[in-house]
Amino acid sequence: MIRRVAPPSTAFAWTVALLVSALATTPAAAQVNGAPPLEVLYGFTLIDGRGGPPIPDAAMAIRGNQILAVSTRRQLLSGPDAPRDAIVTDLGGGWVIPGLIDSHVHLSTSPNRTRAEAELERLLYGGIVAVRDMAGDARALASLARDTRLGQIHGPDVYFSALMAGPSFLSDPRPQASAAGETAGEVPWMQAITAETDLVEAVALAKGTYATGIKIYANLEPEIVRAITREAHRQDMLVWAHSMVFPTRPMEVVAAEVDVVSHVCRLAWEGMARAPTEYHHDEVPQYGNFSAASPIFTELFESMNRNGTILDATLAMYARAEENGDTDLSDRCDVDFARALVARAAEMGVPVIAGTDFTAPQGEPFPALYEEMEELATDGGLSPMETIVSATSAAAAAIGAQDRYGVLEHGRPVSFVLLADDPLADMSALRSVRSVWKNGERFDRTSYRPRVAEDERSEQPTSGPASPQEALEYWLGLWRRYDTDALEDVFIVDPALTYFPSDSVGLVEGFEAVVEYHRSQGFVPGGFRPDQELWLEQTVIADFDDSAVVSAVWHFGNRVSRQDVARGPLTLVVVRTNRGYRISHVNMGNYPGAG
Ligand SMILES: [Zn+2]
Repeated sequence: MIRRVAPPSTAFAWTVALLVSALATTPAAAQVNGAPPLEVLYGFTLIDGRGGPPIPDAAMAIRGNQILAVSTRRQLLSGPDAPRDAIVTDLGGGWVIPGLIDSHVHLSTSPNRTRAEAELERLLYGGIVAVRDMAGDARALASLARDTRLGQIHGPDVYFSALMAGPSFLSDPRPQASAAGETAGEVPWMQAITAETDLVEAVALAKGTYATGIKIYANLEPEIVRAITREAHRQDMLVWAHSMVFPTRPMEVVAAEVDVVSHVCRLAWEGMARAPTEYHHDEVPQYGNFSAASPIFTELFESMNRNGTILDATLAMYARAEENGDTDLSDRCDVDFARALVARAAEMGVPVIAGTDFTAPQGEPFPALYEEMEELATDGGLSPMETIVSATSAAAAAIGAQDRYGVLEHGRPVSFVLLADDPLADMSALRSVRSVWKNGERFDRTSYRPRVAEDERSEQPTSGPASPQEALEYWLGLWRRYDTDALEDVFIVDPALTYFPSDSVGLVEGFEAVVEYHRSQGFVPGGFRPDQELWLEQTVIADFDDSAVVSAVWHFGNRVSRQDVARGPLTLVVVRTNRGYRISHVNMGNYPGAG
């Protein structure tokens, strides 16, 4: 299904000849019949997105949204056939790379147009010209896709998916949020699939949402995964799957000929004799029993190469989770194993693409994709050039748009990024972004202002957590510090605060009583570091304008040994105050027998 990116072109001289002959016949070349002017950009080193060596002292001839030629400055500006009437622009040194693609975003799980637009703008000004959205509310996504494509809002082009999963998965709160107003499982972008489903109709419905790909999520048997993929390809849709579909294992997912598999750590299930049969489970792969060099992964990557399967690693997400201890993923992933596995995949020639699956915090000027690329280029074992390919030409193939994005050459749209520093020397050079061209339109970094921060500045908290997510992190942090002084940074200091820690304690009302409760748990002024910790799994944050409801499964105990871990359901309410986001209510239950 996926066409591989063509090898480096040898038609270079031909391209220039074509350009020159085209210009020779147009005397007033700079402006013909109201057509956009011919422009020659020079003064940069070019990295064209194919993975070959960079071209120093390069130049690019463009007209409107079309690249007419890519060459050296000598050839395009001082050669005998150089165009005479072009507008000539010196980019002033620096490096040009193709516009970037984040291959794993979620713009509209529970749609919020203001936030989505702010995020899209941050992505665009960070050099990202396309994204692959891996499931959300298609009603909102189609609107974002239209408006970014037409330039009505500033952002990358949005390619998105319609989700298919076993009926049991659709009770997860995320698909429910994405189908709000309707029933998850029964809408074209969130379909419950069984052996009885008419897949011709199901795929046609998915396609009608304006989705590019089917996302195969969870709780589907191998035969169904195969059948969905076959039908999707027949109807010219791509298939983007989780690497482990439960019960369908990575090797079976690849054998089904899906186009992309997501989340490198879930490939670990291929190393296990026994694996869970459903997505919501409580098991962890026994990482000690295998390594990235184990024959089972060699076999898996050989199979991926045979089938042309692309790997969407989401490596930085695992690294962050381990650092922050803030998601359900960290304890299911051995990050060093994940890094070694990405390196092994790349070494074997499996195309790796850069996808994030998280967003940078509000107010952070640069997009999360930089973190993924930095991670791939340092611990993920990819060379800097391979890393750039992972976010350009390889990523373009994953959305089936290799003619539009990823490579800078004759005939392509004008979408590229100008960096002041050399990304091949250090991937952090992405942060030196100066200008971004998307479809011929130029966006200068100096004119970028993080929009959410600006819109909400009047109400911006003066201190404390800047988002519900951060408030949650502060709360988890409490249980790593046991510091009574930190409580007022986490909870509303108000008699309205309510906290239900367990059946035996009952409801604790008011800030003072909550402080007292924490003292009873061993909290002291100044704090100390305990050897147990609190962490969450299956976290879902339902975000409203000035508040958020968090639901999750809390775990308390020793996270490494996983002995005597107590667990239960958690509901937490976060509200926006003039001192940032604060928790106003906590309710913790206990699962019987746990702990
Ligand atoms: Zn995701």
